[in-house]
Amino acid sequence: IPTEFLQAVPVIAKIEQAGFEAYFVGGSVRDALLGHKKIHDVDIATSAYPAEIKQIFRRTVDTGIQHGTVTVLQGDLSYEVTTFRTESGYQDFRRPDHVTFVRSLAEDLKRRDFTINALALQHDGTVIDLFDGLTDLNRRVIRAVGTPETRFHEDALRMMRAIRFQSQLDFTIEPATLAAIQTEHHLLAKIAVERIHDEFTKLLLGQRRQNALQNFVTTRLFEDCPGMATSEQALLQLSRLPDQPLHSAASAWTLVAAGLGWTAQQAIKQLKRWKSPNQLIATVSTNLELIPHFIANDFTNWDLYQAGWHCLMITNEVMALYQKAIPEAQLQQQYQQLPIKTKNELAINGRDLLQRTTIKPGPQMGQLLKQLEQAVVAGTLPNDAAVLLQQAEQMMA
Ligand code: ATP
Ligand code: MG
Repeated sequence: IPTEFLQAVPVIAKIEQAGFEAYFVGGSVRDALLGHKKIHDVDIATSAYPAEIKQIFRRTVDTGIQHGTVTVLQGDLSYEVTTFRTESGYQDFRRPDHVTFVRSLAEDLKRRDFTINALALQHDGTVIDLFDGLTDLNRRVIRAVGTPETRFHEDALRMMRAIRFQSQLDFTIEPATLAAIQTEHHLLAKIAVERIHDEFTKLLLGQRRQNALQNFVTTRLFEDCPGMATSEQALLQLSRLPDQPLHSAASAWTLVAAGLGWTAQQAIKQLKRWKSPNQLIATVSTNLELIPHFIANDFTNWDLYQAGWHCLMITNEVMALYQKAIPEAQLQQQYQQLPIKTKNELAINGRDLLQRTTIKPGPQMGQLLKQLEQAVVAGTLPNDAAVLLQQAEQMMA
């Protein structure tokens, strides 16, 4: 048993001593059985109700108490302890309206999405496997628990989760499960776009982006995603790019935007529809403007300065998939020779202009400062306060 679980055994033991059942469940069990080195989020499921868990442990946080989740704090570690539950009343093909706490592990496992995610691990290492999840783990197959159509009607996001796990785990999707995604794909339109965004990002960052993107197209899930309905060919081309790993949501979405041929302006519009975080949108649009410079391997100082090192690195990661990466040493050398890297490093600011020259506040002051910044970045003026202030006076004269 991996140490992440061993550390949590006292939590399970304490719940059992109080007369309840408790098991490790979910992704950490799956990943441990797959032999993954890094186990994150050790989740515990229990027959105890939230109020009972709070009586057993001194330090707890009500993380999602209405859904049955209490976080138990143990030293510097914390565990989400969730009461066994069933879900009902899936209106609108989304999350359930009601969760009902139950005392039976089997009921809890039955509501989980895929057989490989429906395994429970006892603290002595015994695996409880009600749906042949171990066989599916061995065969590397993603299979819905129960009738796939029914399960996707309950929660259409599970269809995106299937291809996300395919990419992350390098599994195949069992034929009946895949066929059900194909027939039910339109239900994805009912799902909040932020949740689709999260799954799609994980898919793009997974090790088998290719296969998962192919299924994203063949099942026609893409038709129900913002800005993608008419991009079948571009998505297929994306799915043929090498499976080289990407490391951030920004690189993932830069790849999508570039692959779908979005301009920076179009990317801003589309990513807003996707409800991407603003920071991500800004980075992707900067990156798209950088791409022609990567293709030509031709950057002015101002290009490098405006992009910043972070965007340069992310764009380079994406360009590698198109065999257009620039050796990092070359980029670094060009970037390092910039006279300044940020506006903060400019020897003067707006206050200096007002206090030490005859310039009056107003829009022209901002333009002036921008011109000085550009001149310093280009190397045509030294980053020296006296020189810049004198230049400012001359430009205003
Ligand atoms: P990850 O490694 O990305 O955290 P995970 O399998 O732990 O993968 P989570 O979203 O953290 O995924 O969910 C934890 C568990 O809850 C899953 O393993 C699964 O058993 C169950 N689960 C999560 N989302 C759903 C869903 N939409 N439908 C049914 N069961 C779900
Ligand atoms: Mg998890």
